[in-house]
Amino acid sequence: MSFKACRLCKTITEENQCPNCKSTDLSEDFEGILIVIDPEESQIAKKLKISKEGQYALKTR
Ligand SMILES: [Zn+2]
Repeated sequence: MSFKACRLCKTITEENQCPNCKSTDLSEDFEGILIVIDPEESQIAKKLKISKEGQYALKTR
């Protein structure tokens, strides 16, 4: 199994479509994983404009 990151919202998924924004523009080439549990309390989540809990890539190519 391989993980992919959505280029639009950076959600990490194993599917071929982003479960968050429904985009199919996914990249297998991403760097870093950010796990957001409480987006309201996370400064990094705010910086990356993440408003939902989940797993996100820090960088996609
Ligand atoms: Zn997405």
